[in-house]
Amino acid sequence: MDFELSKEQQDISKAAKEFAEGEFRDIARDCDLNEEYPESLIKKGGELGFIGVFIDEAYGGAGLGFLEHALIMEEFWKVDPGLGQQLCSVTFGSEVFLLFGSENQKKKYLPPLARGKAIMGFAITEPDAGSDTASASTSAVEKGGEYVINGNKVMIGNGSVSDFMLVFCLTDPEEKSRSDRHSILVVETDRPGYDADKMHGKMGIRASDTANIFFTDLKVPKENLVGERRKGFYQLMQFFDRSRAYVAAHGVGLAQGALDLAIQHVRTREQFGQKIASFQATQFKIAEMATKVELARTLTHKACSLLDHGRGNSNTTAMAKLFSGRTAVEVVDEALQLHGGYGYFNDQDVERFYRAAKVLEIYEGAKEIEKMIIGRNVLGRF
Ligand SMILES: Cc1cc2nc3c(=O)[nH]c(=O)nc-3n(C[C@H](O)[C@H](O)[C@H](O)COP(=O)(O)OP(=O)(O)OC[C@H]3O[C@@H](n4cnc5c(N)ncnc54)[C@H](O)[C@@H]3O)c2cc1C
Repeated sequence: MDFELSKEQQDISKAAKEFAEGEFRDIARDCDLNEEYPESLIKKGGELGFIGVFIDEAYGGAGLGFLEHALIMEEFWKVDPGLGQQLCSVTFGSEVFLLFGSENQKKKYLPPLARGKAIMGFAITEPDAGSDTASASTSAVEKGGEYVINGNKVMIGNGSVSDFMLVFCLTDPEEKSRSDRHSILVVETDRPGYDADKMHGKMGIRASDTANIFFTDLKVPKENLVGERRKGFYQLMQFFDRSRAYVAAHGVGLAQGALDLAIQHVRTREQFGQKIASFQATQFKIAEMATKVELARTLTHKACSLLDHGRGNSNTTAMAKLFSGRTAVEVVDEALQLHGGYGYFNDQDVERFYRAAKVLEIYEGAKEIEKMIIGRNVLGRF
């Protein structure tokens, strides 16, 4: 067992850190306030090879692993969760192409993503189907050589900026098992019948795009089915086993970023005639925070490494996401506490980090869903 990153992995982290420091630091607060990100950031990120590094070289990617992707996301989220989220989400769903897509689909959709020249998203959530994904009712009806899609998806990352979107659709409502009723289709967003309504007022990660989307008699050729018909639910679960590992990396990055801000503050702020870092109560807080971050990082790297070695599993990934989401929320809470009243104002980065953290316990499976997965795995049949 070796807990050291390789030299290449350390270099990737370092390069990602430099990119985020150089590109995010000065604009992060305004992007958060204005709910926007510069499009040039995606292009630059793509050119420098930070986007979708897990995409095979044959499809324009770097052919690296989930661990390398997680390392990059950790560094991005450490500097700014909102811009980190936007850069990470550019390829959100691409794993579905890698796992289940046809050769034509991989050649068509993956290369522009990896170069930062296209954006995608994955639309699963609906007004009445959140955690219970198998109740999704957006329909795709096969007619002739096409699928006709009707329905409404909510809170979709990149809904108003993506070039194409994977859509989790109900294709076979008559199937007895609700796990056999869905399929995944890829939809180009310039097709008639696609409408997006950007959502405003997100609590955190506000630089990133989130939208409600509507499908009205939207037609795609039957070649746009990704993977097998009726297997959409199983494909979705396998996708989550991957995507949750790097959402865990978001939590590690956010928590480390918040810890760094707290350390910076307590080393300079003086009260009662001494640096607040000199109080043992402060040292204990910092010790707890640092230990949690290290644990979250270790578990996350393990989940990613297992995936990269073909031994990924729902249990470890769910544990990593659960623990790192909780760590992010707890660590940033203490970090803000250590900033005192100053941390409550939006000219302090810690305020933005605090608002960003909560989503890590909600999206990509609420923490209760992760616990269901872990509980079932640990208890087994009884
Ligand atoms: C910023 C942001 C970006 C998002 N991006 C995307 C995206 O790109 N694509 C996409 O498809 N979706 C996206 N979502 C939606 C997200 O995945 C859902 O919000 C999430 O899955 C939870 O669904 P819900 O909001 O409908 O909550 P619900 O399913 O209504 O759950 C609410 C709460 O009920 C509890 N609960 C629910 N079920 C159970 C259970 N079985 N056992 C115990 N407790 C339970 C949990 O506490 C849960 O938090 C995004 C959400 C946000 C906030």
